[in-house]
Amino acid sequence: MYLSKSKYCLGVQCDKILWLDKHSPEERIETSNQAVLDNGTEVGECAKNLFGFHIDVNFSENLSSMIDDTEKLLKLEKVVITEASFVYENNFCSVDILKKDGNSYEIYEVKSSTSVHDIYLDDISYQTYVLLGLGYNVKKCSIVHINSNYVRKGNLDLNELFKIEDVTDIVFSKQDEVENKIKEINKYMADEREKDEPLGIHCFEPYECPYFNYCTGHLPKENIFKVKRMRNKDKFKYYDKGIITYEDLLKEDIDDKLKLQIDYELNNREPLIHKDKINDFLSTLSYPLYFLDFETYQETIPKYDGIRPYQQIPFQYSLHYYEKDNGPLYHKEFLSEPDIDPRRSLAEKLVEDIPMNVCTLAYNMSFEKTVIKNLAYLFPDLKEHLLNIHDNIKDLMIVFKNMDYYDKNMHGSFSIKYVLPALFPDEEELNYQNLEGVHNGSEAMNSFANMGNLSLDEQNVLRNNLLEYCKLDTYAMVKIYDRLKEVTKLKNKVKVLEKN
Ligand code: SF4
Repeated sequence: MYLSKSKYCLGVQCDKILWLDKHSPEERIETSNQAVLDNGTEVGECAKNLFGFHIDVNFSENLSSMIDDTEKLLKLEKVVITEASFVYENNFCSVDILKKDGNSYEIYEVKSSTSVHDIYLDDISYQTYVLLGLGYNVKKCSIVHINSNYVRKGNLDLNELFKIEDVTDIVFSKQDEVENKIKEINKYMADEREKDEPLGIHCFEPYECPYFNYCTGHLPKENIFKVKRMRNKDKFKYYDKGIITYEDLLKEDIDDKLKLQIDYELNNREPLIHKDKINDFLSTLSYPLYFLDFETYQETIPKYDGIRPYQQIPFQYSLHYYEKDNGPLYHKEFLSEPDIDPRRSLAEKLVEDIPMNVCTLAYNMSFEKTVIKNLAYLFPDLKEHLLNIHDNIKDLMIVFKNMDYYDKNMHGSFSIKYVLPALFPDEEELNYQNLEGVHNGSEAMNSFANMGNLSLDEQNVLRNNLLEYCKLDTYAMVKIYDRLKEVTKLKNKVKVLEKN
């Protein structure tokens, strides 16, 4: 079995990942997302055109045939080859783009991110090691990545969409390191016995390790790594000091919110409800009261004018509203057709559906506000109305973020996906898992992005699934709002976290 560039990079992160891939692959819990992988492929295909005419080495399970095809193409004096493939002492690599001019070679590694990460340097250094080992005269090594400042105007401008960063000096300075690392990986893999590897930030950087559950299997069920809203770096600081259990953590000088979370995890406490504070929040709202939620998707390679790579593009919203207190609940919604720029029709419908000067609730409002602000600057004729909606948005999440309402089943999270089941554990109509096809924001985003490729019948099914999903998001907000009103009327005593 050859070492490949992706395996080499895994080895750079931790040798044990490779070892477990070989000996215990059933323990792997996938952390990479198919949509991210597909996106990388699309970017790679697009970048191939950066240097004009090029010849592909077609992918084959039979790596020798890729190597043979490459050898043939390298007989040409001047050529740009994509996926040129080489093997040197059992180290295999395919180069994203290889430029050959006479006896000089340039290596281009394409990435869909917007900057150069250290692991990319390891990746291209490994490829360079292979080519240098085979005697090729590598003159230049570059990382090709997305330029986040590019805004599409007319035809796609590849020279603006991509940035090419020359990393030749760094790559050459890392050649000894590559050689040593390959030796280390080979030695590690030759040993059939499993080794204990210390846990550390490398378990999450550059990528979340798929074996983290396996490697932490010996820890108590509730351990420092299960704590929400704490940076991984901080978790490892505690872990390295031997602070592993929730009991250990409670003895530390941690902030009140974290203390409350841990205390509720350990002791079966009743919900904490600060009625006065919830009332203060509710008194800032007024009728008619709207509940708004957007769905957005992102494109690395912008399809439409005025869009930057990775910009959030709204394609759908759901809107519930009460005209008056205790009045009937109404619902409106919008879902764009696929394969068109959805922003204008969405913005027009939004200003039709939400009148000026009304109170609108969102959950984690910064997202909704950013979407509306972007639309306002894009469409000057709708700007006044859109900014009026923007300025009148209030955040329902604030009650939970401030822990004015806390239930142990929120497990320290104030995301609606935790708050909702904590408040309504038995309500099947509020369970996202009961929905067909689309159960979360990523599924909504990926489904919509792919909708244009479906048959009309499939599109209709998907449209319905998307509408039901987004509708549940705002209906959930309505239910949470109603519950907040209810609890402020309860006569139970308000509990306050005692400071030590
Ligand atoms: S969890 Fe950490 S120690 Fe275990 S294999 Fe992954 S990176 Fe290595």
